[in-house]
Amino acid sequence: VGLGEFELIARHFDRPPHRPDVALGVGDDAALLRVPPGHELVVAIDGMVEGVHFPLDTDPAAFGHKLLAVNLSDLAAMGAEPAWATLFISLPAADEAWVAAFAAGLFALAGAHGVDLVGGDTVRGPRSAVLQAHGFVPAGQALRRDGARPGDLIVVTGTLGDGGAGLAVAEGRLPAATASDAAFLRDRLDRPTPRLAAGVALRGLASAAIDVSDGLAADLGHILERSAVGASLEIARLPLSAPLSRAVADPGARWELALGAGDDYELCVTLPPERWDEAAARLAAIGCPATVVGRIDSEPGLRLLGADAGPYRPSGRGFDHFAGG
Ligand SMILES: [Mg+2]
Repeated sequence: VGLGEFELIARHFDRPPHRPDVALGVGDDAALLRVPPGHELVVAIDGMVEGVHFPLDTDPAAFGHKLLAVNLSDLAAMGAEPAWATLFISLPAADEAWVAAFAAGLFALAGAHGVDLVGGDTVRGPRSAVLQAHGFVPAGQALRRDGARPGDLIVVTGTLGDGGAGLAVAEGRLPAATASDAAFLRDRLDRPTPRLAAGVALRGLASAAIDVSDGLAADLGHILERSAVGASLEIARLPLSAPLSRAVADPGARWELALGAGDDYELCVTLPPERWDEAAARLAAIGCPATVVGRIDSEPGLRLLGADAGPYRPSGRGFDHFAGG
């Protein structure tokens, strides 16, 4: 019996494992994997559907990169180190060129982080893909959402709002952006950098952590809910990139992109103030920018403080025009 066209394109994902903890990778009914002693297995899964989670014109290599990156970002938010991935991919046709580019994007990021693809399935259907990432964390040391305490500082890595501005670029809603700013923002949307080293560096220091996939307000909200605390965010402290600040003239729209648009894949962590110097030093040592943007308090809810320290009210422009509400 000859191989079907989908089995043939699936060969793009059949690469020999590099990791010694893979006893058996692609090619059998299932993979055989070894978790190192004294560690917990950390598992994350995320799927993306064309036209819903990524624009129709997304470069397939960027799609492969991003599908793995968003899962590695979840491992980063747990303080885990990545090890293995499994992949489900659905395509309307056995498009060899598309699969080759997708695989190139995925394997480039996987190789950069020592991740082996150990199994998967390729089927006919609407264009979409689901990836499950597996990693390790020393037992008991995972960063979780439920440890924030009143008085803790709220810290974010990198800059916020670029992913949302990148989507605006992709959809033609930021025509005033220069070509280089538009390219930067689109790259932040399509090729996010998972903050894996930062997650590891913050083990033992952060009281809670999450990655910013849905916008800082929503993602910090998950920490507040799980930790049964509230928070105040100082809007003027939100770290914004120079391209975002140039491309979006209205400060309110910038802040709302940072708060509400998502797709940034930075980390938001909380930590007691006395641990900040050590955390800042560790993050600086790995070249990861970090900014204190607010504080956890006991009063439930999220309070936004403007530059004058009074309550900040979003105008709605950022959400309406840049984030689709
Ligand atoms: Mg997450």
